[in-house]
Amino acid sequence: MTYATINPYTGETVATFPNATADEVDAALDNAHRAFLAWRDLPIAQRVAVLEQAARILEANRGDYAATITLEMGKTAAEAAGEIDICVSMLRYYVEHGEELLAPRFLPAKGYGDTDVQLVNDPMGVIFAVEPWNFPYYQVVRITAPQLTAGNVIVLKHASNVPQCAARMEELFRLAAENAGIDGDVAGGLLTNLYLPHDQTERVIASPYVRGVALTGSEKAGALVASLAAKHLKKSTLELGGADAFIVLSDADVDKAADWAVQGRNWNAGQVCVSSKRLIVVDEAYDRFLARYREGAAKLVAGDPNDPKTTLAPLSSEGAKRTLQRQVDEAVAQGAKVEYLADVPETGAFFPPALLTDVSESNDAFHTEFFGPVAQLYRAKDEDDAVRIANDSPFGLGGSVFSRDIRHAQQVARRLDTGMVAVNHPTIVAADIPFGGVKNSGYGHELIDLGLKEFVNQKVIAVG
Ligand code: NAP
Repeated sequence: MTYATINPYTGETVATFPNATADEVDAALDNAHRAFLAWRDLPIAQRVAVLEQAARILEANRGDYAATITLEMGKTAAEAAGEIDICVSMLRYYVEHGEELLAPRFLPAKGYGDTDVQLVNDPMGVIFAVEPWNFPYYQVVRITAPQLTAGNVIVLKHASNVPQCAARMEELFRLAAENAGIDGDVAGGLLTNLYLPHDQTERVIASPYVRGVALTGSEKAGALVASLAAKHLKKSTLELGGADAFIVLSDADVDKAADWAVQGRNWNAGQVCVSSKRLIVVDEAYDRFLARYREGAAKLVAGDPNDPKTTLAPLSSEGAKRTLQRQVDEAVAQGAKVEYLADVPETGAFFPPALLTDVSESNDAFHTEFFGPVAQLYRAKDEDDAVRIANDSPFGLGGSVFSRDIRHAQQVARRLDTGMVAVNHPTIVAADIPFGGVKNSGYGHELIDLGLKEFVNQKVIAVG
């Protein structure tokens, strides 16, 4: 594993970065801890002033920050700019609401007569964030904005294919803190980026300064990192993979649903944890949906991610392309049918939009996440059958229900074993909606007060 910028559109290795040594890791943890000791005592208003500065820097340099994403993991310039916008919204959410979210709660406790009992939200220390490359800034801001608001600081281990995005996040929060008048040593310790080799992960987690571990990524990495957190008695949150069901009921606007499915499955080249990966359509709507999906996916334009006409980006790496092709081939070998719905350039890490049908319940693909523009389409006998197929998954991240009857769709949503469900939309990602899954998709939440409170000491102060 080497930290390197390899442009997935051209295949060019642009830069490589050395791994952090054990001494560098220790020094970074010391610095982060020292920054925490000062940061925790600042008023919330002063802490969120740093977030406001970060939002302004991103807004003023939107194209420049976006270009680093496109260079390293290949998403289109338009999608990269959209990622900057949601980062700005997440930062501003905590600027606006931080004070209120951290306010003490007064409990109506009657334990000792008229006992005055407060729950206050105290910061805990250094939070270790392990993040994936598919939204290289969004994922970092999603944990950093709430945790800086809470008075914690972040040590970041970003994915090895987005080292420059990681460095830009470190630079962003340092500059923002300096602009907000924060002392230089503290400013430099709010978010520390480490090019951490895997064999140094335990060193970080074991540090007494580290009080929490937040990982977004695969089940494999999640299980490994969370087991280290458990070994060292640190709380962890896991935001893992998904295979979101996209249910289309018989009374849905089928054309609209199919158009959303094309978008929901293929944006970010299909590399989204909450992509609409399993399209489950009831019998009456199936044929029309299939025709419309084919038509929509065929219109996707693969090409230079910096060209505004491009709507299908390359995958993040040649390795990701090989993995996806292997998964499709194995699904076909086990009886599924595949259709490739559009042409893509031969060079670059492109994968054509594809549709898998006839995926039997014994096919490994049925229970597998495909991280790219490969949709699985299932014909359900009826609504109950659709819910059954949806829930027959190891994952429980997001999902969708399409119906003209909103109330009924909301009831169907309650039957899905997932952390999030959207009605008449692919799973919704927004700055002011919490994010989190169940089952193998992980535990804990990010965003709003739920995310912020994952790593605060909700301390009881009771007057006897
Ligand atoms: P991954 O391999 O698990 O990588 C994610 C992060 O974990 C990277 O920083 C990676 O670093 C690190 N990592 C992996 N093994 C590690 C180890 N042994 N010790 C320490 N760190 C380790 O995930 P991916 O396959 O690239 O990313 C896609 C997955 O993330 C998909 O399953 C997707 O659904 C999921 N995801 C979930 C969410 C969510 O919010 N639920 C959001 C986005 C993505 P290296 O790069 O150095 O290996």
